[in-house]
Amino acid sequence: MAAAGGNEATVQSPTTWTAASPLTVLPGVGPVVARRLAAAGLRTLRDLLQFFPRRYRPLRELIAPVADAVGTLVRLQGTVRSVRSAWLPGRRSMVTFEFASADGTPFHAAFFNQPWLRKNWPPGTERGLEGQLERDGRRSYCGKRALPLPMAPDRAPCSCVIPRSRAWGRRAWWSGSAPCWRRSIGRRCRCRRCRPDSTSCTLPPRELFLAMHRPTDVATHERARLHFAVREAVALFAAVEQARRARTARQGWSFATDAPLAERIRARLPFALTADQDLALAALFGRLRGPAAMGALLQGDVGTGKTAVAVAVALAVLARGGQVAFLAPTEILAAQQAAAVAAWLGGSNVEVILLTAALTRAERQAIGERLRTGGRHLVFGTHALLSASVAFACLALVVIDEQHRFGVDQRMALVQKGKDPHVLVMTATPIPRTLALTMFGDLDVVTLRSRPPGRRPVPARFLATDRWPRVLRSIARAIRRGGRVFVVCPAVGEDGEKGGVVRMQQVLATRFKTALVHGRLPLAERQAAIAAFARGDTDVLIGTTVLEVGIDVPAATLMVVAAAERFGIGQLHQLRGRVGRGRRRGLCILCGVDGERVRAVSRTHDGFELAEADLALRGSGELLGTAQSGFAELRALDPVDDLGLLLRVRAAVRDR
Ligand code: ADP
Ligand code: MG
Repeated sequence: MAAAGGNEATVQSPTTWTAASPLTVLPGVGPVVARRLAAAGLRTLRDLLQFFPRRYRPLRELIAPVADAVGTLVRLQGTVRSVRSAWLPGRRSMVTFEFASADGTPFHAAFFNQPWLRKNWPPGTERGLEGQLERDGRRSYCGKRALPLPMAPDRAPCSCVIPRSRAWGRRAWWSGSAPCWRRSIGRRCRCRRCRPDSTSCTLPPRELFLAMHRPTDVATHERARLHFAVREAVALFAAVEQARRARTARQGWSFATDAPLAERIRARLPFALTADQDLALAALFGRLRGPAAMGALLQGDVGTGKTAVAVAVALAVLARGGQVAFLAPTEILAAQQAAAVAAWLGGSNVEVILLTAALTRAERQAIGERLRTGGRHLVFGTHALLSASVAFACLALVVIDEQHRFGVDQRMALVQKGKDPHVLVMTATPIPRTLALTMFGDLDVVTLRSRPPGRRPVPARFLATDRWPRVLRSIARAIRRGGRVFVVCPAVGEDGEKGGVVRMQQVLATRFKTALVHGRLPLAERQAAIAAFARGDTDVLIGTTVLEVGIDVPAATLMVVAAAERFGIGQLHQLRGRVGRGRRRGLCILCGVDGERVRAVSRTHDGFELAEADLALRGSGELLGTAQSGFAELRALDPVDDLGLLLRVRAAVRDR
């Protein structure tokens, strides 16, 4: 329960609270809870105030249970008539109350794991309850499968909308097991006043917050939400518009990308481009020729061949004497891209350079020196590229792969190393149109939809955890047929923890030739493991999500994801994109606990559809998380529902 860790000694009087006060001023928030809240991005009272519920459900106030309300949320008042408690397997308990409503009709409510309620609510107690009205046999329940929520004693009885707070990552206790928390904000909004201070004077009036957390009716809530949504949209587009103006005002490098050059570039690639790649390339070359610096987003599902397009664009820029920086999220990916492209460009005058944190300082300095003096440099690198000590003589194109792994400030750090360079960002997580508009309102979007010939989508099959022996048989079969196998686990688990790669390797090493990669191993070791796997010295590569991006081993045919429920839709989709890259068809086995995300990935291969599903499941807020977008998280604005509002605000901001 959230009250654990309460630290009464440090509780200050509410009159000294400000919007910037730490959450520990709240009764019941001690260091433990504060840490959890901080992990969810909540540190101050302001954060908590602005942590709006994601959904609202209308609630009916009833005198007694009625048949036509079954399945909806209701509020019922009643007097406790009798109590029964029972212990369930696994040290769980259930307390069932029988209430009499005002007209005498009985109804029940069942509470899990709150045995103390029996003592707290003896027969005769009057309580208000909110919950889903259900029928079980001849009994009516106010909350059975869905938990009933006892009303707080000081509740205003007029509210007819229940906010549903967002689940926090895997810990859903905010909304589930600690209903008191859900309401505490609303109560505090009502009964305490934050003293204005220098930082809080920008906060809207508290009535608006109240209407967000404890709306009295749908219309009041929608008015308040629109207020916050418009504020957010204006802030968002002001930033986007500023970036757009800055970019188009600059004179980019106008590149002549004539037909002979395009032919020469195509000849350098080891394959003929697909029709989609051709179109994308033509569009991007068009931007290079334009008067302003290019700002483009190249999006396409895993395996649609974005790298080849980006490299072709890079070659055009290199041919005209500019330097190119290619930013990748992991060292493995950067190294792999550098190696592949170096092979394509063998015998040309382009110098392919790899710059990662794994190099020694002296090596990095030597590279820095070369970049500063200039040349036909195509640099692949990780965050090490962003370091202040890296400078370019004439950086003309910045390519950012897997853009969602970087924040806006990181992308900007690289862009600012050049004088108005062209920018190409790439994403394998297709972005629904509405989100593209908000995240990349200032970029031109180019999309790859088809795949290179022979690359078939990889089906995903779900197997419950208890069918692990069958997974083992599938691994053995894949190897027997000459394929290789990835096994991905959600954690490192160096202490042998369950669900960790270390333990997984111990299990699998007894039967297969295995290698291990995770983020805590030195790069050289990781690369050695991947190289051994690519050569076929080992058959099974066990890793964390470092395997998610970019790894290209054509012989790999099977991807096993353990504890698949702990991965996001985007991650699962990326992971299955790692197999079936060669002649043989790939298969992905998702092992774990069934769930929406696992089901979505098993159902469809279409990255766009998955992105929409992801959006619906998670809400846009998380997709747009600060780390990703650099914009403050959208709290009230819903880029899907509020598309109309977004477009209007964008037009208004542009005309300003
Ligand atoms: P993405 O980054 O979009 O996931 P990649 O650029 O890594 O995809 O390409 C996936 C694989 O397909 C790579 O092995 C690449 O060499 C190959 N590939 C890309 N374009 C083509 C093409 N036109 N024909 C054949 N193979 C291609
Ligand atoms: Mg890629």
